[in-house]
Amino acid sequence: MQTKDLLQQAQADQDWIVGLRRELHRFPELRYEEFRTSEVVRRTLTELDIPFEHPIATTGVVARLGNGNGPCVALRADMDALPIEEEADVDFCSENPGKMHACGHDCHTAMLLGAAKLLKRHEDQIQGTVKLLFQPAEEGGAGGRRMIKEGALENPQVERIFGLHVWPELTTGHVAGRSGPLLAAVGSFRIRVVGRGGHAAFPHTTHDPVMATAQIVSALQSIVSREIDPFSPAVVSVTALRGGEACNVIPPQVEALGTIRSMTTEGLAQLRAAIERIAHSTATAFRCTATLESVEGEVDLPATVNDATCWETTRELATDMLSAEQVHEAPPVLGGEDFSFYTQAVPGCFMVLGIRNPEIGAIHFLHHPKMKVDEAALPIGTAMHAAFAFRSLQDLALPSNQTVVEATAM
Ligand SMILES: [Zn+2]
Ligand SMILES: [Zn+2]
Repeated sequence: MQTKDLLQQAQADQDWIVGLRRELHRFPELRYEEFRTSEVVRRTLTELDIPFEHPIATTGVVARLGNGNGPCVALRADMDALPIEEEADVDFCSENPGKMHACGHDCHTAMLLGAAKLLKRHEDQIQGTVKLLFQPAEEGGAGGRRMIKEGALENPQVERIFGLHVWPELTTGHVAGRSGPLLAAVGSFRIRVVGRGGHAAFPHTTHDPVMATAQIVSALQSIVSREIDPFSPAVVSVTALRGGEACNVIPPQVEALGTIRSMTTEGLAQLRAAIERIAHSTATAFRCTATLESVEGEVDLPATVNDATCWETTRELATDMLSAEQVHEAPPVLGGEDFSFYTQAVPGCFMVLGIRNPEIGAIHFLHHPKMKVDEAALPIGTAMHAAFAFRSLQDLALPSNQTVVEATAM
């Protein structure tokens, strides 16, 4: 199957894909509440005569195509939206108040359904199995991890996986990715500093947790500047401080919340250990105690690491489908993605898809209330999914020495 043919066929299906995307966009649902979205996915798969399993991870769906006789490759889309009031000037605006598809997961789901249609059309050429994973709760719910726990990568065992994210900083028609770490390992923390409260006019009778927390927040900034290799990107941000109610009362305790980011999962553990050490010793110096706690509902994400072969395959396919000028090496980004759970389990590739078009106001970044998508990009995403599946099944079916010969020949 030629990649250019796949793109042409996906472009012929553009209205169908866009129709689905707009329907999903009108009814955004938050993590683990994607019931209507999941229904649209299942309705569409049924119309396409594609078998699927449901429920998995509450609202998730796993569809499968192919003859089952050969290797297995997975393609993944996330389905959840964000708690944001939409301000985009589109006539298919969110009808669920306070909720919006501001991260483009409506597009991801629609593009994967487009790929389902495309793959179904050529199912006779699928030697093996293609699994389509429609997952819930990418936004802070670790839906990917639950999909894996509940068996999405088993029976048959997935050997390669592909996923993508719409990217408002990249012009429509362009894609980007890289080998190795693409997106960060992400963690959150809560430091609880406990002292002794009292009357603010008698500070000597108190152990002031406000003072201790202020010192801790400052001292934490030394982690990235003094403890981490300057060539290894890392972030320690304190994003919330809570404590005290009145101007004349020293409170008994203060909480500091924040986020940590690293390009490696080990780096994240190093940041957390340093925070614990600094918080503990600084609090002690100020006659308080500090404990490091996890933030309720927040799950640590490993780094999203692209397998070298899978990125090479993706890069070649995209170059073939578009042109060399439209395929870019992406710099690593300190944002996180729960696709990382899949790349931790099996070799995979995560790619970003350009959707930027200033002429229609598609310029705002992800999670912005005016975030807009150039829908002309959707067939490219659909075709890339299908192309990755076809090509990976072919490569996996070859004995390993032939794969190497083929790869060097290209
Ligand atoms: Zn997001
Ligand atoms: Zn997202």
